[in-house]
Amino acid sequence: MKILDMKHIKKHFGDNDVLKDISFSVEEGDVVSIIGPSGSGKSTLLRIATFLETMDDGELSYLDKQVVESVGGHAIYKKQLQKEAMHCFGLVFQNYNLFPHFNVMKNIVDAPIRIQKRDKEEVYKEARALLKKMGLEDKEKAYPSELSGGQKQRVSIARALAMKPRILFFDEPTSALDPELTQEILKVIKELADEKMTMVIVTHEMSFAHDVSTRMIFMDQGVIVEETTPDQMFASENERTRAFLGKHH
Ligand code: ADP
Ligand code: MG
Repeated sequence: MKILDMKHIKKHFGDNDVLKDISFSVEEGDVVSIIGPSGSGKSTLLRIATFLETMDDGELSYLDKQVVESVGGHAIYKKQLQKEAMHCFGLVFQNYNLFPHFNVMKNIVDAPIRIQKRDKEEVYKEARALLKKMGLEDKEKAYPSELSGGQKQRVSIARALAMKPRILFFDEPTSALDPELTQEILKVIKELADEKMTMVIVTHEMSFAHDVSTRMIFMDQGVIVEETTPDQMFASENERTRAFLGKHH
């Protein structure tokens, strides 16, 4: 089943064409890594997929429901379907975005209870299980400022998972972390991949991307230059791909 389908996405900021006709889709169980130089449009693509940014033109569907359609060269958002689609993804950023004035537990349970209106007791129970899975069972009452970067990022992942997303987006989840903490987070993401969580991961961690992905996408200057298996990506004959990978090995 297709979880996400994006077609002919176009986005500009001023005279900067940031996304030039991008199409890609994610099947259930896919782990798609997006790689590419800084400024190539990776974050913008994720921000559009998660409605933090609007596209100029294109189509977007979650779970076969078309949330955005293209009419006369313009993207038309269907507000009700967008609202429903908000429940089917989770997003983990580089800089955690935890609520500083909420403790760890509150950070995790707030959205499922307040936005998804799920049963409180059940949400707390699941949150405790998630914290255990993330190795944070003793941090329930801690505030974000009392945690290491790696711990904060694990709380962010737990918070995203608490929404029971069908797909999880990561935008450079380790780029603010030192190497040791980076490995700790990559291990958590690898475990999610082993559990067949559907994920889209923007990352500069090339060997991780190779190991964890079912598919890789190389973006440059607002276009998808190549989309293929990890093995084929690293054996690419494409000049731009080779130049990029050469710098990041
Ligand atoms: P990446 O994540 O691959 O580094 P981004 O999607 O962040 O790339 O940025 C792609 C391009 O869009 C860059 O040239 C960036 O400066 C520009 N850009 C991103 N967001 C904005 C914005 N809100 N306003 C203006 N330009 C932006
Ligand atoms: Mg980015």
